[in-house]
Amino acid sequence: MFDINQVRADFPILAREVNNKPLVYLDSGASAQKPQVVIDAISQAYSMEYANVHRGLHFLSNLATEKYEGVRGIIARFLNAPSEDNIVINSGTTEGINMVAYGWAMPRMDAGDEIILSVMEHHANIVPWHFLRERQGVVLKWVDTDAMGALDPQAVIDAITPKTKLIAITHLSNVLGTKVDIKAITQAAHAKGVAVLVDGSQAAVHMPVDVSDLECDFYAITGHKLYGPSGSGAIYCKSERMAEMRPFMGGGDMIRDVAKDHITYNDPPMKFEAGTPGIVQTIGLGVALEYMMDLGMAEIAAHEDQLRDYTVAKLGGLNWLQVYGHTPDKGAIFSFSLDGAAHAHDISTILDKKGVAVRAGHHCAAPLMDHLGVTATCRASFGMYNTTEEVDVLVEALELAHELFA
Ligand code: PLP
Repeated sequence: MFDINQVRADFPILAREVNNKPLVYLDSGASAQKPQVVIDAISQAYSMEYANVHRGLHFLSNLATEKYEGVRGIIARFLNAPSEDNIVINSGTTEGINMVAYGWAMPRMDAGDEIILSVMEHHANIVPWHFLRERQGVVLKWVDTDAMGALDPQAVIDAITPKTKLIAITHLSNVLGTKVDIKAITQAAHAKGVAVLVDGSQAAVHMPVDVSDLECDFYAITGHKLYGPSGSGAIYCKSERMAEMRPFMGGGDMIRDVAKDHITYNDPPMKFEAGTPGIVQTIGLGVALEYMMDLGMAEIAAHEDQLRDYTVAKLGGLNWLQVYGHTPDKGAIFSFSLDGAAHAHDISTILDKKGVAVRAGHHCAAPLMDHLGVTATCRASFGMYNTTEEVDVLVEALELAHELFA
């Protein structure tokens, strides 16, 4: 049962003041706040249950291993993956996408082969592909959003040629809030032998995700946006793709046998997890995902849809405010600028004085900024704990900024 007052009470930081004003945290798209259960789990893991995982024979190592490995199953359930063996645990989306770039894409792409990206990708889903462009002559093909900020799946499909090996695409834009119809893309892509990597960093926070239904080949998530610790995350990999993938990093845990003249690897997914992992971060992520699933992903999505609709109506009344991204089913993420006004940084500084935390800048989406014809925007991004009253505070603060800069 989703009770917004109870949810807010679960996040201790929301009770604090900032600049002598109640905190209005609208920067969850950058990183979300943590519920007490996650904070407690981290504290418990370090104070009573800490040891390294996987190689110990003593009580604490076994306990930590059990807790850590238990999270693999939680992530599989959260994403509806066929098995926990499809889940590689890592430090977040950036690591997940780099793993696929180095381990899967690099060995199977030659000069002239193509990767299709949307113009609204985060740099984490751009830069690793530029490495392939720079180092191996791979061609990056870009698909634009339309004036509403929508991405037509057919435009992505139409961009496929016999040279296309991969489509790397976001499920929900961190700037526009646009949702992408991944299933329409995967079905057509697979019919042409093209793999699909999905950046689920934002989508998995705001809506139920079912990788089995989406039929994607890779789906990356990042823990710190999912109300879990920073430095936690995972990537779902289809079994066939995992079998094709080379290990990205080498070290302990990912091997079965090491000799002076040969090595053999551990079975997937361990083959892709070199070195001591983020033990406590991962345990915290498991608790965060359980917390979300207990509330219900559909319920969280419904609450945020209400917030989105309220915010659309409120911001729509400000004729000096330009919002980027108008798709009706978008996630509750609002990028905006003030007509003729100061830089986004100045606006966010004024909002901060009113206790309102928003982000200003290019949001690690420079190609999209270019496409929109701006250098920076302000972004209010909502989490499950935000309220319509907070939207009102945002609007009041924006009116103040408008008066100051008009
Ligand atoms: N992709 C998207 C859409 C994001 O919003 C972010 C974070 O802002 C990332 C990728 C990168 O995530 P991380 O830095 O946690 O690896």
